[in-house]
Amino acid sequence: MFDVVTDIFGHFLDPRKRVYLGYLLVSVLIAILWLIFFRGKSFSNSIKFLFDKQIWFSKSSRADFFVFLINRCISIIISPVLITQMVIATAIFYWLHGVSWLQSGSLQHIPDYIIVMSFTISIFLLDDFSKYWVHRWMHKWPILWALHKVHHSAEVLTPLTVYRTHPLEGIVFTIRGTFTQGISISSFIFFFGNSVDLLTVLGANVFLFLFNTAGSNLRHSHIGIRYWSWLEYIFISPAQHQLHHSIDIAHHDKNFGAALAVWDYIFGSLHHSEEVESLHLGIETDDKNFNKLSTLYLSPVLEIIQIISRRTGNIFSKLKSIKR
Ligand SMILES: [Zn+2]
Ligand SMILES: [Zn+2]
Repeated sequence: MFDVVTDIFGHFLDPRKRVYLGYLLVSVLIAILWLIFFRGKSFSNSIKFLFDKQIWFSKSSRADFFVFLINRCISIIISPVLITQMVIATAIFYWLHGVSWLQSGSLQHIPDYIIVMSFTISIFLLDDFSKYWVHRWMHKWPILWALHKVHHSAEVLTPLTVYRTHPLEGIVFTIRGTFTQGISISSFIFFFGNSVDLLTVLGANVFLFLFNTAGSNLRHSHIGIRYWSWLEYIFISPAQHQLHHSIDIAHHDKNFGAALAVWDYIFGSLHHSEEVESLHLGIETDDKNFNKLSTLYLSPVLEIIQIISRRTGNIFSKLKSIKR
């Protein structure tokens, strides 16, 4: 029983996860300082504003919590079935050996600290870059949007909203992570040999650690911290991600980045944060209630079935008309 509870809530004690208690505490501290110094609130009003019951106990936040619990249970059950990064890494490693013009260990002579630094930076950049593209495809392709809609259906944001995802989206992102890590590990070991290692703090990639201690949890919150305009070209500010959740058409398909804003800048989807009192968050749907768990889990699957059957129906009718 104890094991099950630690499996489910282990993310709060794992510095490799965004909702690690240490990062949450730092985020609270950043939010309070911001409210006092940039919003002119007193300490007690800042606390009241930050822990606003209407947000934390809203229908949307309660749904976030149950989705977190259910998804953790699902991922504990299915994670052994998912292909591991070691399988991918080994396959790519042997494939590289088969490429005649590539020499294994050709960069082995480079000092260890450069290898470790390059590996840590590369894995962080590749991870963030692939997150950007998978997120962008989630918005572009109707089948993926049917899944990603679950995340966007949140009407208020709290750090747990990061887990408000359909389990099938979770699988897509796990496969993404598996491939990016597998590619980085195998290619680095192939070229640089056994000195490859990750620079970590508390077991987390040092860059992810820095990103999380800089208040990454505030992206999913009502604390609209904006950065200087020039900095929002480099890092996504909390206000920029909140804008990504906005219902306003002007904010659609903007700010797909996870940690870095440079991908949005390069590929034309960057939107600077705006000084707004509050954003209208969520999705404009029909009459679906996405705070109901049955809707949240089943309606994306039904929508995907409809999309596929519509498309296959179109193909069959085209084939029929060609035969005639
Ligand atoms: Zn999105
Ligand atoms: Zn989000």
